[in-house]
Amino acid sequence: MNIAKVIVDVPAAQTDHTFSYRIPEDWTELIVPGIRVVVPFGPRKIQGIVVETVTDENESLSAKLKDIEEPLDLTPVFTPELLQLAAWLSEETLCFQVAALQAMLPAAMKAKYQKKIVYNRDVVPHELQELFKNRKEASWERALELDMVPLLQKKAKTNELDIVYEVKEKNKKKKVKMIRCKASQDQLEELIGALPPQASKQKELLQFFIKKTESIPFQDLNKTYGFSSSTVRSLIEKEILEEQSVEVYRDPYEHKTFKRTEPLPLTNEQQAAIAPILSAVEENRFESFLLYGVTGSGKTEVYLQTIQEVLKLGKEAIVLVPEISLTPQIVARFKGRFGEQVAVLHSGLSIGEKYDEWRKIHRKEVKVAVGARSAIFAPFDNLGVIIIDEEHESSYKQEENPRYHARDVAKKRGEYHHCPIILGSATPSLESFARAQKGVYTLLQLTKRMNNRDLPSVEIVDMRNELRDGNRSMFSKKLVELLQDRLEKREQTVLFLNKRGYSSFVMCRDCGYVIQCPHCDLSMTYHRASSEMKCHYCGYHSHVPAVCPECSSKHIRYFGSGTQKIEEELGRLFPEAKVIRMDVDTTGRKGAHEKLLSAFERGEADILLGTQMIAKGLDFPNITLVGVLSADTMLHLPDFRASEKTFQLLTQVSGRAGRHDKPGEVIIQTYTPEHYSILLSGKQDYPEFYQREMVARKQFQYPPFYYLALIHISHEDVLKTAKIAENIAHYLQKHLSSSTIILGPVASPIARINNRYRYQCLIKYKREPELMHHLKTIVQQFQDGTRKNGVYVSVDVQPYVLM
Ligand code: ADP
Ligand code: ZN
Ligand code: ZN
Repeated sequence: MNIAKVIVDVPAAQTDHTFSYRIPEDWTELIVPGIRVVVPFGPRKIQGIVVETVTDENESLSAKLKDIEEPLDLTPVFTPELLQLAAWLSEETLCFQVAALQAMLPAAMKAKYQKKIVYNRDVVPHELQELFKNRKEASWERALELDMVPLLQKKAKTNELDIVYEVKEKNKKKKVKMIRCKASQDQLEELIGALPPQASKQKELLQFFIKKTESIPFQDLNKTYGFSSSTVRSLIEKEILEEQSVEVYRDPYEHKTFKRTEPLPLTNEQQAAIAPILSAVEENRFESFLLYGVTGSGKTEVYLQTIQEVLKLGKEAIVLVPEISLTPQIVARFKGRFGEQVAVLHSGLSIGEKYDEWRKIHRKEVKVAVGARSAIFAPFDNLGVIIIDEEHESSYKQEENPRYHARDVAKKRGEYHHCPIILGSATPSLESFARAQKGVYTLLQLTKRMNNRDLPSVEIVDMRNELRDGNRSMFSKKLVELLQDRLEKREQTVLFLNKRGYSSFVMCRDCGYVIQCPHCDLSMTYHRASSEMKCHYCGYHSHVPAVCPECSSKHIRYFGSGTQKIEEELGRLFPEAKVIRMDVDTTGRKGAHEKLLSAFERGEADILLGTQMIAKGLDFPNITLVGVLSADTMLHLPDFRASEKTFQLLTQVSGRAGRHDKPGEVIIQTYTPEHYSILLSGKQDYPEFYQREMVARKQFQYPPFYYLALIHISHEDVLKTAKIAENIAHYLQKHLSSSTIILGPVASPIARINNRYRYQCLIKYKREPELMHHLKTIVQQFQDGTRKNGVYVSVDVQPYVLM
């Protein structure tokens, strides 16, 4: 009797273990670990994943078992390694096993999508004719009816056929509206003169087309440059502009050709860095390397040449890049070197595209996966290296279940495959640099920028002095001066606004009342485009009231300096400047991010204004000025990593200027110029920053001196929340060692979200072997989240967000 141990797709504590099912005779060969199946579960039929198969001699016991209903795959979608990894992940992050497994699969493979069988070769053989009937595709249901699944599986093993999920993309062939100008430059000048004075918007638009000779998507004209559809429409009616529909494709890289690049002769420094990595590769040895080198020091070239060796040995490579750095430029560097052997996985892709890329890996059609966080689960089975670029990025930590850090998963996979992992950064995380200091990681350094290009000169401007001198604007005199200079020289500027802490809120000028979300203890953010207020935590939105709810004053308006406000101020200061704004509002749509960047690269604007998302990956020769509008907003977040994040961000932003022949200048505006993270980022002095920050971390008992675990408790009743938090803290005090520090319970910095009150306990520990066991007990004992409105307890081990 063959029995399958199945993890069922019911994410709950009671079902977080394997269930045994009998494997029907016909399917004994088919049902192997890593295959997904349908199983009867109570009155329902649900999905499950086979994690183990056993032969059971005890017929009387297994006679009670139910049969597996049907298989969902022909070949396993999880390798034995990934099954093992999921079990480990669920232990380490305290998530349900099914959640860990699901996290490894592309969304298209969730149950709601149809699947079909596709025959890959020219002639469908006789034995499959009944199913395919002269076609190359057949439905899965039909195959089940005909009892042909075991036969299909044999064929699938040799890639003769495949199961394919049909993802019905809503706009499979999407068209975009493009606007083109029919008039010549000279004609335009004339037309502008001929328009009546009140047609100022139309004049502006024509002015725009004097510089812009190719067509531009209407969306960009509208969203990026602020031209209304009526302005555009009236010029189309005058037959000066013209509208066209152009198709956009499903695979964003399909129609791009990547220029082939050859390995560069390495510098001595690069040589010294790559040598120990290559020996680890050749000797099949797990080893963690920290590649510490300023931007432009040649780290990527080291990655590329390492991968080249790995491919020579017939092995595979994973490269993680933070989501926002996953720009066409980065993709081009990997595709340019390794061409068709590269799959790219990032969240900008549609569900169908992601699935296509995953399939290339699963079918072994590619050998390199480049992607954001979740690409760490790429189903390779012969890894030769794992690379994490910008390893300090907090986006490598997933902030929902499973709450894993890609770095930890990389280590685990590296150990399994006996291959090295490379963590690269210009500003390594304190944790990683400390490990390198202790010799846990091997430290490799690239100290020089390629071509010995100088780092840009950085000036720190004290905004308090500006205020004292009566300058109330967001722009210091120095920055205005330099902006003017760049506009005259036709060079480009990047203005960086640290969005956090800068959301525009709605406030009464008479009584100071700030509009809060009625469900969360947070101020609502004002969105000008829709002229409404939104809560960024629960999504609640409403219109701005005409009068203050507190004092009935009419002087209620939005405040703060969001990117939109700055854009307006720029417009007043430099009416002639073309500005591209990049923030969550202008880049929400798929591909918008890339479009805006390439417009800037083509010189269609003088100033790029944006949030965090422009801090990385920008590498354009004409950028010679970078302005950081307010460096210290992030310093004041309730987060022990605030200084580290500020230092990393400022260093990175500064690196955007003068990357090519023209020298660059950086202006950092701040209200706390004396703070070491601002001072030292100006000097790009990471080692000194590391020393200073380590002293603070030691004093306040934070990582890397202590490990952390954060427990969140939430409930609709504030008293009940507090009581349970209290009980949990008691439990911890009783069971954890005396050297462990338990902070709280306290109300979370965001004390209420979505009408649920939030409390937290922070555990700081050095050695606590039984911790995971105790945390698991807590989650099970205190949580009754299955019941509606119950208590919800979540645990975040090594948290990055402490709110
Ligand atoms: P990083 O990844 O550290 O930012 P890159 O690998 O992108 O650095 O290198 C910066 C620039 O220097 C790139 O344009 C790259 O092509 C070039 N470069 C890198 N290594 C070499 C080399 N050995 N010889 C010449 N140019 C190099
Ligand atoms: Zn008021
Ligand atoms: Zn809310």
